Amino acid sequence: MKWNLVQNGHEPSEPIKCPICGEKMQLRWSTINTHMDIAMELFFRRPNEEKSKYLLSIFDEVENPSWVNDMAWKCRECSYWCQFGVPMKADDAKKVTREERNGERTFIPIEDWWEDAIIKDRLKQLGYW
Ligand SMILES: [Zn+2]
Repeated sequence: MKWNLVQNGHEPSEPIKCPICGEKMQLRWSTINTHMDIAMELFFRRPNEEKSKYLLSIFDEVENPSWVNDMAWKCRECSYWCQFGVPMKADDAKKVTREERNGERTFIPIEDWWEDAIIKDRLKQLGYW
């Protein structure tokens, strides 16, 4: 399977089948991140005495961060969950974020869930609406 860059991020070249039950998996969310986002999250988790040393170690990368399209997929039948991280070019990441997602990095296909009775019912049980 390959990932194709489309208007709103990436799509798999073929449907993703659940490795547990074989059902077609569905996109849960798609986020465009830089590795600096992750680095900053790790920064805040560090003890105070280690923070300045850690910041110096990542400082050189701030100017030219790498980008990734992180996507979570879930099986509607057995609830198996998996995540993919697809590297992308900075220009593509910025274009998708600005032009297709109105500046938002995360895309959640809520409209698709509404059309699927099983997913709609499960999310209702989880308190989504
Ligand atoms: Zn499954």
